[in-house]
Amino acid sequence: MKKREKLSIIHKWYPKAITTIDSVNKIIDFVEYELDLEPKQVMLADSICSDDVNSIQYPARTQEFLGPFKMGGLDGFPFTGLTGMGAFASHVPDDGAVFIYYGPHIGITKNGTIGEIHRFGQSKNSGCCGAAKGALSKLLNNQIVPGNVTEMDYHMNTIEQLLLNENTRIVKAETPLFEATEVIYEAIDKRINELVDQTNYKCKYVILVGAILINSDSDMGSFTEVRRFEIIDLITKARHNKIAYLTA
Ligand SMILES: [Zn+2]
Repeated sequence: MKKREKLSIIHKWYPKAITTIDSVNKIIDFVEYELDLEPKQVMLADSICSDDVNSIQYPARTQEFLGPFKMGGLDGFPFTGLTGMGAFASHVPDDGAVFIYYGPHIGITKNGTIGEIHRFGQSKNSGCCGAAKGALSKLLNNQIVPGNVTEMDYHMNTIEQLLLNENTRIVKAETPLFEATEVIYEAIDKRINELVDQTNYKCKYVILVGAILINSDSDMGSFTEVRRFEIIDLITKARHNKIAYLTA
């Protein structure tokens, strides 16, 4: 299938998505031409779901950056917290930048089915994000107990509570999984910004890319609808919105 045809399937749900490979290529160009840095001066940290498909579909050119430091757990929430953010902030080259890529993920098959992908070597489709779908199923069946966050299943219980906080919005939505993914994005975006605000960086810039990461079948690859592309200048503290670089 041609790239144009793949994008037209994804655009039915996410009209501003580009391929994840294109997003990485554009970010590398931005780092080189706009920030005047080499990719090796940039420490990549990601906060994306632990799902193996995200490792399989991780663009090769990300290896030009330092890292990645892995902040995410189930569905990309930054579970490594303030300690994780502080750790890689202290690993970055002095004149360089920190690049934080974050967001929940969702599957869309080549037939356009949302919440599923076809994984390599399997005969049937499987859920994506499985954690979001599991939490949503419990929400729709009124099985989430307010405040119930256990040590045994901490990440999953946290995702469940995020959905419970926006119960009505999700249940009434035309496509509850789409809406649940929006809710999780907003929670991740809020938390990442809180963590950034409370962290001391010794470099020049923080690059924030918040997105819905869209996985597809093994022969389709992955796509990214960017919701935030901001450069924080750590000397002036100014934030520069560059989202037009990364949207279709
Ligand atoms: Zn997942």
